[in-house]
Formats: sequence, C-alpha cells, structure tokens
Amino acid sequence: MIQRNPCIANIKAGYLFPEIAKRRRDYAAAHPETAQRETRIISLGVGNTTEPILPHIGGGLAEGARRLTTAEGYSGYQDEGLLELREKIAAVFYKNIAGEALKPDEIFISDGAKCDIGRLQLLFGAGTAVAVQDPSYPVYVDGSVLIGAAGAWQGSGYAGISYLPCTAENGYFPDLSALPAGCLFYFCSPNNPTGAAASRDQLSALVKAGRDKGVLIIFDAAYAEYIRDPALPKSIYEIDGGRECAIEVNSFSKPAGFTGVRLGWTVVPKELRYAGGESVNADWARVAGTVFNGASNIAQAGALAALDEEGVKEMKALCDFYLGNAALIRDRLRKLGIPCVGGDNSPYIWAQFPGRDSWEVFNEILEKCQVVTTPGSGFGPAGQSFIRFSAFGHRADVEEAVRRLARL
Ligand SMILES: *Cc1c(COP(=O)(O)O)cnc(C)c1O
Repeated sequence: MIQRNPCIANIKAGYLFPEIAKRRRDYAAAHPETAQRETRIISLGVGNTTEPILPHIGGGLAEGARRLTTAEGYSGYQDEGLLELREKIAAVFYKNIAGEALKPDEIFISDGAKCDIGRLQLLFGAGTAVAVQDPSYPVYVDGSVLIGAAGAWQGSGYAGISYLPCTAENGYFPDLSALPAGCLFYFCSPNNPTGAAASRDQLSALVKAGRDKGVLIIFDAAYAEYIRDPALPKSIYEIDGGRECAIEVNSFSKPAGFTGVRLGWTVVPKELRYAGGESVNADWARVAGTVFNGASNIAQAGALAALDEEGVKEMKALCDFYLGNAALIRDRLRKLGIPCVGGDNSPYIWAQFPGRDSWEVFNEILEKCQVVTTPGSGFGPAGQSFIRFSAFGHRADVEEAVRRLARL
C-alpha cells in the first residue's frame, strides 16, 4: 500500500477541540442531570459564533442565491474573487493604511482565514524556520508540521518552532529580539487566545523587527472589527513598512457571523519579495489558483451587503453584542479575584490560575459550574495555568454561566 506522509505522524494526538468535546461528552454521560435545562452544560469554550446573521447581510446572501437561478444573474468560477468585493474591502477595511490604497490584485478572496493560512504554507515548504506567539491559534503550528517545517512533538512544543512567550510579565507582547532571522512569523492581533490587542508602538516594533531581520509576518486580523479603542491599529498596513514584510489574513467569520457561510480574504502586497527578489504576490496568485477555485458567489454577495452602510452597522452591532458578553465574563472573574485580560477589544478573556495545570482548572470549572472552557496549555507552553473564556454564546447562557462561576 501507499506510504503515509511522514509529517502527519508528527502531529500531536488529540487536537485541542476534539479533546475538549470528548471530556464534555464523558462528563455528560456520567452526570445524567446535565440533560435537564437548569443543570445543562454551557460552553464558553470553542470560538464559534452563535447569533443569527443580521437581516441586511442575510438579505444579501438570499439575493445572491436567487440571482444564480436567473439567466442574467448567473455566474460560475470567480477565481480570486469579485472585483467589486475586493475594491470594497480595500475601501472599508483599509482606509487608514499608510501610503497608497490597496489595489484589488493585492486582495485575494478566500473561503476563510484558516483555510488560507493552511494554503499559504505552500509558499514556503519544508525547512522554513517558523516562529509563533506563545500561546497561539493551533493552525499556525500544526500546519507547519504538515508541510515539514516543524518536526516531532517534544513534550510541550514542536521541534523546529520558535515559541515567543506572551505572558503577564511582557504584557502579552513577545520579546522580538528572540525572533530568528529569515523566519516566517505568525502574529495575531487582537489575539486568540489572550485577547491582547497590539498597540501602534508594538506593531511598529514588529514591522521594524520584521524588516531588519528579513522576517515574513503572517498577520492574522480575524478579530480586527472587535477593536473599540480608536488608538489601536486594525491592520498591519497602518504601520509604515508593513507592506514590505507582511501578509494579512482576515475573515467575515467573526464580525458577520460567517463561520458557517465561509468567506475571508488575504492581502499580499506587491512590495513583498522573497530573499531571491521574486514576487510573493505573483506566487500566491499561482498557488491559490492551483489548489483553490474561488469562494462561493453566494457568500461574496453576502459580504458585499456586509460592506455597505447598513451592513457595516450590523457588523458593529454583532461585535458589540459579543463584547457585551465578554464584559459580563470579565467582570465576574475580576469580582472573584481571578486575574484576567482581554474582552475589551476582543471576544476572548484570558484568565490566570497561578501554579495550576490548565486541564485541572478546566475539569474543576466543568465539575463545579458545568461550564466548558478552553485550557490555555492547548495553545502552547506559555498557556499553562491559563483558561480561555470565549464570549461567543447566547446572552441568557452567558448570564447563567457567569452566575455559576461564583461557585469557583
Ligand atoms: C476564527 C479565527 C479565524 C477565522 O477562520 P475562518 O477560517 O475565516 O473561519 C482566523 N484566525 C483566528 C485566530 C481565529 O480565531
């Protein structure tokens, strides 16, 4: 028979979320009373949206589907995405960038940020030095393992990956002097899981380090629309020089509730070059065109609706709703004296339980409160002793979960 890709064997068994789901199932099986309404298990765990798509954006989706059934409105493959959508993304999300406006051929429409992060790794291949914020979103490291850029799991991290700790001591912003020269660096702000949003000075330092060290930054801005502090940048391109060192990935999943609709985009500026001088933009057009055939035309119609005046208001209202949940969780944790950050410009709260094991705290919260969370250690070694609370949930569920947290 055919040989398995040896890289797959390096992926650590039990990806975080399946393990959480298993523990939840096992707990429910052992506690039949959780089938009751009052004692049911509530999840503040997985970062999945829960609220319905708002009417104007939903109308765009419905109209997009309807148009496909007419001779005049029908469309097939759109490759890198509708031109109108790429222009609108540039106008709405990138109006504050440094220098010239983004051009449509620097914006590639995708079926989501996570999918594009996986495909972007094809640009670099085995042997690429990879660095991540520690803790970080799992696809950065697991995807690196799949392409052979990282090796076997070694206790608390993969061989070949530089983990840059983001801790309470450094304000959840890494020490950039530890960044290896010429590496690929995944940076997420506002951050999943810590909820930290990098300041303008911090992003300027990041861009400077990137350019000085020949580092290519993959900037994950999936939560940019959750930023409420007007002083905080929403894009790496708001920083001078960002175009020379960064690819930005983003998505309608979290601001518009498109987790199940699937629509994102990736920005690859024309200025971006490899060490040999070749254009990264030209390669990405080639790679994306080879393994991806374009996002759903229906989803793109929904995104167009999200980007007009009414749609932008709906995205803000949806993010405000989840930020309201975040405030409830954060205020309760603070009242309980549990140190925590995030939740003000992001839908995640990162709570610290000094000296304790994350999974042990996860179990305690599940057993005492019947609330599912995410153990911080699942996001990297520096996540040990932390718990991530997600603000994605119905208001009544979050209120009930917050009441139960008083039992801690
Ligand atoms: C949810 C999330 C994404 C979005 O992924 P999609 O594939 O667009 O749904 C990207 N990055 C981070 C850090 C996320 O939490």
